[in-house]
Amino acid sequence: MICLMCHNTILTEMSILNMFEKDSPICESCSTELLKETDTNYEYPHEVISFLSYNEAVANLFHRYKFMGDNALKEVLASFVSHNFKQYDFVISIPLSSKRLKERGFNQVTEVLDCLKVKYTDVLETSHRKRQSERSKIERTESQNPFTIKSTFDVSKLLDKRILIVDDIYTTGMTMTHAVNVLMMHRVNEIKVLTFSKV
Ligand SMILES: [Zn+2]
Repeated sequence: MICLMCHNTILTEMSILNMFEKDSPICESCSTELLKETDTNYEYPHEVISFLSYNEAVANLFHRYKFMGDNALKEVLASFVSHNFKQYDFVISIPLSSKRLKERGFNQVTEVLDCLKVKYTDVLETSHRKRQSERSKIERTESQNPFTIKSTFDVSKLLDKRILIVDDIYTTGMTMTHAVNVLMMHRVNEIKVLTFSKV
């Protein structure tokens, strides 16, 4: 087998112990690099379920996956995610604008959820945002929240439900705060936040 990160051959000795384990899509040295912890003193506005520190190797992985179109790397991200998704009524991914989706060709979050066979619901949408400099002062204050609920989604379904919002990387928490605020308006029971990596 070839490592999806460094493209070297993965040498695994078959033994009775690892016979039934799922093959890892990457070699051990790449796995070690990705799992390196980074120090952070940052206070997050949410309790975040996350699996990888945003270290150099992880940043490189996301760069190749999102911007260089190395779509096979979704399997690498999926291999680190271990969570009981069944405890939620709705798993909702942070949406891409249709412009961004067209540029990239795929949604980097739902691709990983597909690998994990997690069922998700298309609830949020976002329109492509103009750059700060292109927007008027009024536009800037009025369009602070980039997310809305899709008009095709019946919001009464959210009443009293447990929700998980999923994104790829958690940085300042702004994106999540916006998404949480939009969903909170519909009297949900609880919202949890999960990202593959956290800065
Ligand atoms: Zn490797």
